[in-house]
Amino acid sequence: MQMLFKLLVLLFVFGCTPKKNNQPVSYDPPGSTDTRDKEIVSQNKKVFYFERGKISFSNMFPGARLNMVSQLTDSSFQIEISPENAPINNSAWYAFQVWAKANQMIEITLKYQNGSHRYIPKLSPDGRNWSPIENNFFSSDTTAGTAQLKLQVGPQKLWISAQELITSKIMADWVQKLAHFQFVETKIIGASVENRNIIAVEITENPSAQKHILIIGRQHPPEVTGAIALQAFLERITEDDSLSTLFRQNYIVSAVPIVNPDGVDAGQWRHNVHGVDLNRDWVNFNQIETQIVRDYFLQKTKQAQEPVFFTFDFHSTQKDIFYTLKENLATEPPRLMEKWLQIMAERLPEETLDIQPFGLESPVSKTWFYSTFKAPSITYEVGDEDDREYIKTKARIAAEVLMEILVEQ
Ligand SMILES: [Zn+2]
Repeated sequence: MQMLFKLLVLLFVFGCTPKKNNQPVSYDPPGSTDTRDKEIVSQNKKVFYFERGKISFSNMFPGARLNMVSQLTDSSFQIEISPENAPINNSAWYAFQVWAKANQMIEITLKYQNGSHRYIPKLSPDGRNWSPIENNFFSSDTTAGTAQLKLQVGPQKLWISAQELITSKIMADWVQKLAHFQFVETKIIGASVENRNIIAVEITENPSAQKHILIIGRQHPPEVTGAIALQAFLERITEDDSLSTLFRQNYIVSAVPIVNPDGVDAGQWRHNVHGVDLNRDWVNFNQIETQIVRDYFLQKTKQAQEPVFFTFDFHSTQKDIFYTLKENLATEPPRLMEKWLQIMAERLPEETLDIQPFGLESPVSKTWFYSTFKAPSITYEVGDEDDREYIKTKARIAAEVLMEILVEQ
């Protein structure tokens, strides 16, 4: 009896884990492809007052991350930043406000738990308009993994963030603006763990369009440059020119700009609020957010019976990369991805495109997109500190080339 029990336990443990399509990516920390719920530590939302409010810090806004502040001298402070759980990819996100009763200079040391400094600080007077900190006010210590900032503070709140804040609200406002076009429709396709809307945008001028392009973004909260690219890409498709119009008369673009709204608004480094990397959950589908997006795309394409011509998943990393499919993974129609990449390279002569083909070993969205639709599937990675105007220009070209190729199909 005991033997039988042990056998059943073994069968359960190993029998449920697919052997294929579940390999971690090389830079993944251990355990990332186990996408069952994990514990996370929520940050304490509060205002940190020093010397009776002479200087104050706050994390009381969506997207904030500030776990602890301590005063070192009159004008210097140490800020501790921790991820939602660990081990975790080093996407060391931070965002906070600081203000002072009187104008003064302060020095801040950023110190990280389970990670090291990564993002050049961006400053804003209002949480909407951002610019990178000036070089001589910032240094980082790559050995210690810390960073030092000098800031001019005063009664007006100063926002400091790893990247521009594109919270779920800011993205929803952008989606609403896009929906002013009569050929753009928005849909709430489900709710996240913490009951935030997961929103889809659909672009087409053909109510019976059966030719699909599927797009997602922001599985990973800090990947704001990917979000900037996704917005520019979709905006290009809504423009009023003959190419876009012809494209919209024949195709439907369905996009989910923020797959992980809880993680974005909680200022998390990588995961959803169940402590899971959503872009490792596209085989097991343990998380509600990945289930919702999967079911939406299946419903849109009539259970994958209608053709999907391209899929894009927008991300950010240290530099621009296109993760593509290995050549032996044939697509229908054939060789569209190669054509897109070739024309992209011609249109961006100043950049040597970094193209990295992958197989289907890892449980990322690209694996699911290809396995389900046999479509050209691209993970569109944008550099963390790329010039923002260049990100937009490149994403516009990416959309343009896509439309040019597809209207000829
Ligand atoms: Zn990512």
